[in-house]
Amino acid sequence: MTDPVEFRRDVGLFATGIAVITCTDPETSCTDVGYIVHGATVNSFTSVSLKPPTVMVSLNTGRAHQFITSHRFFGASVLTAAQSNVSNHFARSSDSLIKPEFIVRHRVPTLMSCLAWFECEVTSQLDVADHTIFVARVLASGRESGSPLIFWGSEYHCGITPN
Ligand SMILES: Cc1cc2nc3c(=O)[nH]c(=O)nc-3n(C[C@H](O)[C@H](O)[C@H](O)COP(=O)(O)OP(=O)(O)OC[C@H]3O[C@@H](n4cnc5c(N)ncnc54)[C@H](O)[C@@H]3O)c2cc1C
Repeated sequence: MTDPVEFRRDVGLFATGIAVITCTDPETSCTDVGYIVHGATVNSFTSVSLKPPTVMVSLNTGRAHQFITSHRFFGASVLTAAQSNVSNHFARSSDSLIKPEFIVRHRVPTLMSCLAWFECEVTSQLDVADHTIFVARVLASGRESGSPLIFWGSEYHCGITPN
């Protein structure tokens, strides 16, 4: 049986990008003035299929899980190499000094500044151990130029060099 601490070290060698999952508090709507956006940092965001464009994210119990389960929509913003502070901001419940800005391009808020953004509608979800895998259709997406924030070996790494 693999020890969870050892497993974390082993699986942490699978390099990923980092995304911030955004969702709205079910008590408010994007059309309300002053609607509340909630964000959570993840590295489990990945593509599932191209036709139709489908993604998935695995979320632990928490507000993002609760809000997406009720609303069925979420945004995903892929972070740039310069946004490790944004990743930390949305990974902790304590207040940080940064105030990230959001934009609703179509119907779901995403980060105003990011490397790529996706507006998603949940099509199915699967509870696995203490997480839920949300599978979602991509309604709209876009990208900016820049290099990604990489997560590898439990640390952030900036940028990539072509092999
Ligand atoms: C690089 C990186 C990658 C990450 N990748 C992921 C990822 O892929 N998936 C993921 O789920 N998290 C991931 N995290 C952790 C995640 O960013 C934080 O846990 C964040 O606070 C989650 O926000 P939230 O809205 O889901 O939870 P919050 O509501 O902000 O709660 C924070 C944590 O408290 C606990 N909690 C809250 N409410 C309950 C409850 N009712 N019952 C039990 N526990 C509760 C959960 O552990 C939850 O994650 C990652 C963090 C980092 C730094």
